[in-house]
Amino acid sequence: MRIGIPKGLLYCRYHTFFETFFSKLGSEIIVSEQTNKDIMDMGVEFCVDEACLPVKVFHGHAASIKDRCDYLIIPRIMSICKKEYICPKFCGLPEMIIHSIPHVPKVSMEPIYMQNEKEFFKWCFSAGSAVTKNSAKIKKAFISAKKAQKKSRTGIIEPGQKLTVMLAGHPYVIFDEYLNMGIVNKLRAKGIGIITEEFVSDSETCEEVKKLVKKPFWTFQRRIFGAACVLLRHKRIDGIIYLSSFACGIDSVIIDLIRYCIGHFPMLVIKLDEHTGEAGMDTRVEAFIDMLERRVLNENYNPSPWECVFSGQNPV
Ligand code: SF4
Repeated sequence: MRIGIPKGLLYCRYHTFFETFFSKLGSEIIVSEQTNKDIMDMGVEFCVDEACLPVKVFHGHAASIKDRCDYLIIPRIMSICKKEYICPKFCGLPEMIIHSIPHVPKVSMEPIYMQNEKEFFKWCFSAGSAVTKNSAKIKKAFISAKKAQKKSRTGIIEPGQKLTVMLAGHPYVIFDEYLNMGIVNKLRAKGIGIITEEFVSDSETCEEVKKLVKKPFWTFQRRIFGAACVLLRHKRIDGIIYLSSFACGIDSVIIDLIRYCIGHFPMLVIKLDEHTGEAGMDTRVEAFIDMLERRVLNENYNPSPWECVFSGQNPV
């Protein structure tokens, strides 16, 4: 049995689990290539126009391997944390793939609730049954995959020479070099330190969002917003670069929340879609870094966190 795993969306975070699980079941794993122009073009061709760039790119990944596998893993990830959810686009992902791409093989349809072991095993049992009817083997593979996943970690934390920025956004944008046009390496080349939300603990982000009127519904909303506030309050960053996908509703909520709470603290928002030009992005990043240097080094600016509603000030 050849299991196809598209290298898009939350693959960057959970690939260890899926690959370990299916290889322990004895399947051959077919993973799509890193995102490239062909994959992006295929995604744009097959996916509906209204979708965000990561979902389009996911379609390209699925289309690139569909003819080489017998079973395609399309993770309908509903939730990874208790009482929080992932984007609605994930909920309909298998249907989008089946109805947009012709001649797809059998696809995993069960929803995934990762925060609950029993529920998560249900998905593994259903997907694993496509490979073997031996439930003991599926259970064993599930346990091994969970152990392997525990050891895997995503995120970037790198010290800079003078400045450090938080690179914010959904992980599948930050860790896809083609999609974000190599921004990580560009910042490294300029000697800018980088930190991503993974290096702020869950408990800290939970504490931070308690100050909001309403508890965030989306896990990435809590994580990214909470991490930005914590890093700013602890003066660990000089600015925020937010990589946002055009047409992403969740990004628009997170960006407004961060803006509202950080006051005059510098934040650059880069909207990405299939038409975004690299030269335009480079110019904006360079201008932002110049501004940070002037502000932090020349003007001896000391960021004052919580120029915000929480301290009773009007942030705007
Ligand atoms: S959260 Fe935004 S970027 Fe991610 S899949 Fe949903 S709409 Fe797309």
